[in-house]
Amino acid sequence: MLTGKTAIVTGSTSGIGLAIATTLAMKGARVMLNGFGDAEGALAQVRQHDPGAIYHGADMTRPDEITDMVRTCESLLGRCDILVNNAGIQHVALVEDFPVERWDAIIAINLSSAFHAMRAALPGMKKRNWGRVVNVSSVHGLVASGGKSAYVTAKHGMIGLTKAAALENATTGVTINAICPGWVLTPLVQKQLDDRAAADQVNNEEATRRLLAEKQPSLQFTTPEALGELVVFLCSPAAQNVRGVAWNIDGGWAAQ
Ligand code: NAD
Repeated sequence: MLTGKTAIVTGSTSGIGLAIATTLAMKGARVMLNGFGDAEGALAQVRQHDPGAIYHGADMTRPDEITDMVRTCESLLGRCDILVNNAGIQHVALVEDFPVERWDAIIAINLSSAFHAMRAALPGMKKRNWGRVVNVSSVHGLVASGGKSAYVTAKHGMIGLTKAAALENATTGVTINAICPGWVLTPLVQKQLDDRAAADQVNNEEATRRLLAEKQPSLQFTTPEALGELVVFLCSPAAQNVRGVAWNIDGGWAAQ
């Protein structure tokens, strides 16, 4: 279904990004991976479906490297048809205790990197009159939780960026949307589970039960694979008129 299309997925060496990249490759896309994790392992997984998959090590805090990632995709893979802005980090602290350096890093990686990548990729998409941008926001782009001021700010900002860019491109073949997962069991969340298990002095299973019961009514994690399928839908012809949405996939979290 995506045969002939090329895709960049930022932060795709683990978790949600790796699942999205794998699903896009399974549907026929040629994929460029990115991220600071196990690049060789991620490439090996994606190459099972797309033997031509490549990797670019751009640091999402560096605008020049982000631009180079898009330009490299355009020169090595021919163009950039699909851009999934997924890279993200988390830090949990009260506003008054929040390290300034962590605030700056979260705004840069979770929000500004999407602007820099879109800025570089949109002209080519518009020229060909086909493109798909999927910004991985979060349920925290729709509602807040205490302790996550930088993350909540960045994820709300990403939805604003998505809406503005979607309007700018509304009459073109380029669609721009955000997806908003609730809890997904990835390394980013495992760290929060470990912190909770230590703080509450409970085991991993009980920490998981408490984490989900607090916010996610389905009491189930959203899977990275389900997010991959949602991205594939947003890339499909049926989604051509889906523009500027913030699509939550959160087990009912934001419905409360
Ligand atoms: P993860 O830690 O498994 O993946 C994060 C990816 O970003 C990794 O590949 C990492 O190397 C990369 N990364 C981090 N800093 C980078 C940098 N400076 N430059 C380039 N790459 C960098 O986490 P995940 O849970 O898969 O998160 C992926 C996205 O999904 C994030 O934007 C996160 O906010 C979002 N999200 C996650 C959840 C969840 O419950 N896990 C829920 C909602 C939204």
